[in-house]
Amino acid sequence: MPEFCDVAVPVPLDMVFTYRVPAEAAPVVGGRVLVPFRQQRMTGIVVELHDRKPSVATKNILAALDTTPVLDAQLLQLGHWIADYYLAPIGEVFRTMLPLNAEFKRSIGYRLTAEGQMALHLAGMSGSSARSKRTPEEQEAEFRVLDYLAASGSDEIESEVPHASPSLPDVGTTVASGALVREETLRSATRVSKSILAGMVRKKWLVREDISAAQDATRTMKIAILKFAEGKLNENQRKLVDALTASGGKVPVASLQSQPGLRDVPRTTLATLVRRGLVEILEEPAGFTVSHSKPRPSLFDFDLNSAQQSALARLREGVSARKFSGMLLHGVTGSGKTAVYLAGMRAVLEAGRSAILLVPEIGLTPAVAADLHQIFGDEVAILHSALSDRERAEQWHRIKRGEARMVVGTRSAVFAPVADLALIIVDEEHDSSYKQEETPRYHARDVAVVRAKMANAVVVLGSATPSLESYFNAKKNKYALVELPDRVEQRPLPEVEIIDMRQEFQETGHEQVISRKLAAEIKERLERKEQVMVLLNRRGYSPVVLCRTCGKKLECQNCAIALTHHKREHKMVCHYCGFTAPVPKACVHCGSEYVYFLGTGSEKLEELLHGMFPQARIARLDRDTVRSHEDFERALNGLNEGELDLLVGTQMIAKGHDIHGVTLVGVVGADVALGLPDFRAAERTFQLLTQVAGRAGRGQTPGKVLLQTYFQDHYAVQYAARHDFIGFYEKELQFRSWMHYPPYSALANVLVRSDKLDDALQWSGILGKWFDSTRHEGVRVLGPAAAPIMRLKRDYRYHFVLKSPSRKNLNTTLRAMLAHAAQKKIPRTQVIVDVDALWLM
Ligand SMILES: [Zn+2]
Ligand SMILES: [Zn+2]
Repeated sequence: MPEFCDVAVPVPLDMVFTYRVPAEAAPVVGGRVLVPFRQQRMTGIVVELHDRKPSVATKNILAALDTTPVLDAQLLQLGHWIADYYLAPIGEVFRTMLPLNAEFKRSIGYRLTAEGQMALHLAGMSGSSARSKRTPEEQEAEFRVLDYLAASGSDEIESEVPHASPSLPDVGTTVASGALVREETLRSATRVSKSILAGMVRKKWLVREDISAAQDATRTMKIAILKFAEGKLNENQRKLVDALTASGGKVPVASLQSQPGLRDVPRTTLATLVRRGLVEILEEPAGFTVSHSKPRPSLFDFDLNSAQQSALARLREGVSARKFSGMLLHGVTGSGKTAVYLAGMRAVLEAGRSAILLVPEIGLTPAVAADLHQIFGDEVAILHSALSDRERAEQWHRIKRGEARMVVGTRSAVFAPVADLALIIVDEEHDSSYKQEETPRYHARDVAVVRAKMANAVVVLGSATPSLESYFNAKKNKYALVELPDRVEQRPLPEVEIIDMRQEFQETGHEQVISRKLAAEIKERLERKEQVMVLLNRRGYSPVVLCRTCGKKLECQNCAIALTHHKREHKMVCHYCGFTAPVPKACVHCGSEYVYFLGTGSEKLEELLHGMFPQARIARLDRDTVRSHEDFERALNGLNEGELDLLVGTQMIAKGHDIHGVTLVGVVGADVALGLPDFRAAERTFQLLTQVAGRAGRGQTPGKVLLQTYFQDHYAVQYAARHDFIGFYEKELQFRSWMHYPPYSALANVLVRSDKLDDALQWSGILGKWFDSTRHEGVRVLGPAAAPIMRLKRDYRYHFVLKSPSRKNLNTTLRAMLAHAAQKKIPRTQVIVDVDALWLM
């Protein structure tokens, strides 16, 4: 046995660590070992066994945890590629690749005590205790912890389900009964050291709990059970009791509260019923149940048309060649890409090999799972974001043992340990949920291509609106371009009409949310018993609260972001960090009573539509009404089965659903994103408009789309209206080429952040000086500049944007910059390098 092993430990450092192998241990390359690291024990991955004696003293590994590798040679190589390409610490990359947290890691959580509550209360009053020996920084840190824990435990009934964020990760996930928060979550949200937490535990402000056991248990959900239906009930209580009775007396709390008829019932009503003993709430295991979802044969049972067949033939040809090949499957909305994917996977399975299908976060509903089970039986493993650590580990082992060779999942399924990989499919390859917005900041589509290369497999990227990068690569013959130009059964694409809202304003004399034309067309559809979707990509009731006296907006405490008014919750909410505040009666800056609620979000739009069409059955789909895949599916089923007339929502309604009764799609505020300072704004707008337009006319009756906009001349709007992807692509490429943006340049965003303004300024100054004084072959550096969102989650943020036609040069510069930052003692976690950044906000 070699004497030493190099171990990648999950810490934010760009290096591996050498340990001595004791006589009794037999670690393997790609296997896990338990090692002492600083004051802790950690699980790392062995990357090399060797006899080169290091110059510093080494410690022994404590145990070898695997006798065979958990990461095979190819996955190890893939991990090294990610670490190198995205400048991510190798130990953190391996941790992301292996969903085995539940097996060895001990997990700690904290809970607020009554003493802690009191301390928070006192801290909120003027001054703090004079006899305190703590520095102001320590007091501030403690306050942040107390404040965070108090906010996490504020809701008694609602169980918080982690959900996908389209842009930024959520601030944290509440565990178990609400107030127990994982140490990692707490520390990353409040940036406090372990010693501060330990001090707070000594003061009895917090209790520290081992939650490994809780983590091992299956996820639970709260179920409301009707005990008695008698007694005097007010209107809201009656509604809840009726809904419970109608569902057989037993309903998950989260879905009860999101039923369309119960939207306006306050959360406290349920609590009242519980208190009165009429309703009981129990915790039950929450499986990703597929049983109640009927498989939809229409999805894959039809015969493939000739375009689909030739796409499938190319795919099969590539698979049997056992050589790398890439294919961009560009199919208009409704052209039947899914049928091609599933047929391709079936062929792979028949050949006894493996396939991975990646889908966007929102695409994996229980109904899709039911379809997949029907086609592939036990051969399919489904990896989705709602799995607990333990469930995820179970699926991982099934795949590793070769019991499931068809893997379907979101982003991290690209690391599934399948053997003899033949095919990777990336559905909706343009979707931004494929990019991880935390370290390692990898893009699953690009990792899929690299993995396919390593495995001599075929990679298929599919979309109706391919990303500029992928289409550009296909045009340059890096991938084969396969087009599905027509909808199945020759159904026409919907007619799109643009409504100029400036003209609407001139003619009506006031700001309209819904134009006269859209209102008339909705009315017509409802009379014909057809269905309508209305998109407004902004949730909440009013996005801005403005004081007419001093002109200031109501902003989040932690972010430079206006708070959004949520009427039903009766709260002001920050959409970036989750901070909430009461709805102001007077201006918080000057005390004036003239506070105005401006603008319209999806909640207000729903209310407006209710007012205009009181007879219509209306539901809303956005992150406020959808707390789980089940909620999402319920709304779609409602449409499918004709129980709904009108669906209002954010971009969630635009994604991939196949509902045949929708004949009209209205887009309100088509151009919300065009105002953002981001070079991808036009591309995103074009994609969203094309995707939502694609929801219309998928059945027998042709569809129509009305786009309301203030930017009617913008090319993203114009080309989307004409279903002209190529036209948009050519125009956008011109812009990218002039501005040296991707795909003509490799791009990285370097963000410097700190909760202290002085640190953020000083560190970005140090790096700015270094960029100025050092020669960087062919790399343009812009900045330092304040990030467009200058303050986010308590951090002050400055950034640099680096562009280079040579990825190698870009990478060299970034690496040198990180080395300089380390030398200047700038903490590695406060300098974020985002290679191929999707957002420059
Ligand atoms: Zn004011
Ligand atoms: Zn915020």
